[in-house]
Amino acid sequence: MLRESEPPSEEPSRASRPAPRRSSVFADVDLGRDGKQVGFFYVPQSPHDDAWGTVRVPLAVIKNGTGPTILFEGGNHGDEYEGPIALGELIRSIDPATIQGRIIAIPAINLPAVTAAQRTSPIDGLNFNRTFPGDPAGTLTRQLAAYVHDRLFPEADYFVDLHSGGSSLMIMPSTIIEPGRDPAHHQRNIEATLAFGAPMAVVVDNLGEARTATASAVEAGLTVVGTEMAGAGAVSAEALAICRRGIRNILAHAGLTDPATLVRPEREPRLLAVPGSEAYVLATEDGVFVPADALGASVKAGSVAGHIHFLADPGREPVALHHRIDGMLFARRQPGRVRPGNCCLVVAVPYDRGAVP
Ligand SMILES: [Zn+2]
Repeated sequence: MLRESEPPSEEPSRASRPAPRRSSVFADVDLGRDGKQVGFFYVPQSPHDDAWGTVRVPLAVIKNGTGPTILFEGGNHGDEYEGPIALGELIRSIDPATIQGRIIAIPAINLPAVTAAQRTSPIDGLNFNRTFPGDPAGTLTRQLAAYVHDRLFPEADYFVDLHSGGSSLMIMPSTIIEPGRDPAHHQRNIEATLAFGAPMAVVVDNLGEARTATASAVEAGLTVVGTEMAGAGAVSAEALAICRRGIRNILAHAGLTDPATLVRPEREPRLLAVPGSEAYVLATEDGVFVPADALGASVKAGSVAGHIHFLADPGREPVALHHRIDGMLFARRQPGRVRPGNCCLVVAVPYDRGAVP
């Protein structure tokens, strides 16, 4: 789909576009039909106990007339619950007559991981969010990513990927800004992310990782919003409320509903960034990590971030870990047990929205 902000020359001509990748996936909803359809798409698989079977993934389409399309994704990681819950509520409650445009919702995209309550798929061991643009001839997780990339991204103007911290992280409830591919695109992402209305909006590029759903959606030209809603493999009532409001706010921001219905948070969201590898405090030893500060605390470069204790070696002094930048403690590891290389803490810094992505 050609987007207004892109010069036509950036789009390959039809003749030079590669042929669509062949896929065996099929769906029982019509992406072009008005009304509310709550159905599924089906990925043919042939495991031992189901020779001609499928994996059935929920897919809802709510459409009324013409207008922008928002693609909402939950369950990218199977142990992050606020997004899938809030999308289920949206699907059940929304009257198509109250919108102008289209909502496509995939609330449990990585269904095997969601069913197993795991970050990664129990089928092929892959992290869905490191498989984009996927492969329709690959393992199941790659096939799911290819369906989102090849079939759903071209239908959409906005992509909203609803994450939480998962079992291993606790993150301050926030929206995530995926850096845009040019300054205008970047500002579109910032505007949409701020409109969601979480207490903070944080630029996170996952150290330049290009295989995430949001990075792939940016590459496809979509306006992109990510979230991180608490975590620890639990559901936070506070984060769920932010997520519910944010979903409705994005509908208003994109013009599917009356922009006057957009509910601003009490305080203007803080704009932050996770600036790079120096923002991460990584474990250096096998042991149990005790953080020095609570989430939201101000920290200084060189200050003690916490200590790793050695429970089976009580004569050994704990080893201190140190911060490498000034900032705010944005995320922390949830389990106490650590191995070298584990992410213990993440620091965010103030972000200038005029900065080049
Ligand atoms: Zn996630």
